[in-house]
Amino acid sequence: MSVDPRLKSRRFVEMYGGTNLQTAPARVFEWSAIVFLLLTAWLLVLPIQTYADSDTIRVTLDLSTGGGVTGLVVDHNSDAIVVVWDDTPHVFAWDEIEALSAYKARLSLLTLARGREGALLAVDHFVLGRFMLERGRVVLARKEFDRAKRLDPSYKSMITKALRAHRVTKKTTDASPFECEESKKDSPVSIPGEAERVCESLTDSLRSRLTDAGLTDLTPEQVEQLKVAVRDVYDRFGQKVIEELGDEVKVIETEHFLIHTDATPSTGKQIADWAERMYDSLCVAFDFDPAQNVFLAKCPFFCFRSQARYLKFARVFDGYNAEQALGYSRSIERLGHVHIVLRIPDPHDRRAMDRFASTLVHEGAHAFVHRFHKSRLIPHWVNEGLADLTSEEVLKNRCFTGEKTDLLVSQYVKYKWSIGDVLRSNEPLEVHQYQIAQSVVAYMRSLGREKFVTFLTLLKDGNDLPHALAYSYDGLSFIDLERGWRAWVSRNSVSTGTPFAAGFE
Ligand SMILES: [Zn+2]
Repeated sequence: MSVDPRLKSRRFVEMYGGTNLQTAPARVFEWSAIVFLLLTAWLLVLPIQTYADSDTIRVTLDLSTGGGVTGLVVDHNSDAIVVVWDDTPHVFAWDEIEALSAYKARLSLLTLARGREGALLAVDHFVLGRFMLERGRVVLARKEFDRAKRLDPSYKSMITKALRAHRVTKKTTDASPFECEESKKDSPVSIPGEAERVCESLTDSLRSRLTDAGLTDLTPEQVEQLKVAVRDVYDRFGQKVIEELGDEVKVIETEHFLIHTDATPSTGKQIADWAERMYDSLCVAFDFDPAQNVFLAKCPFFCFRSQARYLKFARVFDGYNAEQALGYSRSIERLGHVHIVLRIPDPHDRRAMDRFASTLVHEGAHAFVHRFHKSRLIPHWVNEGLADLTSEEVLKNRCFTGEKTDLLVSQYVKYKWSIGDVLRSNEPLEVHQYQIAQSVVAYMRSLGREKFVTFLTLLKDGNDLPHALAYSYDGLSFIDLERGWRAWVSRNSVSTGTPFAAGFE
């Protein structure tokens, strides 16, 4: 139950950073060297103490996406856990961790909170039982429920209720065939596929219209003609998809989307609803007139229940191996075209469907952003932050990105970890950086919609990040942005309290 010594020694090395005080050339430096040494020693103790303040443990987590991590627990609550792995804090929702591995971690954290093994209370066992029941591990759940009952017989009725509710909702929750999360490599793929060839048939004048999305100089008749032309290309695209993948694939047409899918009618309806709600949400966020269409025709979605069909679509049309992804968006910048591809999980698996909905809204938001103002791609952290924030806003409790974000960023503020590298980078994000991006975008939006829309428009016009930031946010620099963000997170963060209170509802 102590701080991982490797973490201490690593911090020690970083603090000294190769400075060799003994080789200082003149006596005049001796005093300053001593002062520096004392200061360094003081600074060195600080982060170690910060960790040592609250006892914690190391856990090994098996992720449902495959692979695992072992690290020191920095914080946790009923939604997620933060561990320092590879010297970097990562946050995982409990739903992203294999059931048994999540159970072991929660049990260890409870034991830590209660002081020793065997000191768990009835409420702890009940919570653990319900946690396992929700994950379809009935045997383990019953074991925990029995322990709760032995300690406090008044839990009996609550347990009966929980088991009954589980029987009603249980269909196929024991094993989801789709455990993969959204591919974090959802940026445009480089190998051309059939999609690019189909869209190439757009005429040159049409292409420039598609990439600019600037139609104000056209008469309504001309706009209508363009829409018809693009729609014609997309209809041919859809036809090719049906030829390749079979006529089980149908098209659901909504106000803004052409959803090609082999889903059941009720799932198809849900997909249409999520997509349109995403669209409405972004119209508000971007102050975009809903009467106008951000897509020149409608945005094509390809959603497949059949994994073979999903993989084949990705291979044939996008030249992409999608085995590791639950979905992706394809943006072809020079054609102004974007489409979304998603794998539909078992509709009875609520958790998998929640993850699917989050991916759908996330990827749909990328499509909207791609088309907004101009089809130029924007820095990854802005794009990903906006997409995750939109998922959270549209799906609320069905999406856990917000909860993960709150937990992780409060650690960044508490331990004064820097986010400067993320803000300055134009590279695709690492897994643990998505939450930072979401939080910074939420902060920027909180400073006023008009400012954020200007910022985005400037990026779309080809300005670099520092310039767009300074112009739209009254001279704001990266350092100012980080400072303001920290203060905002501190003001808005909910105290998680003791490890026990933090861990369980
Ligand atoms: Zn993304």
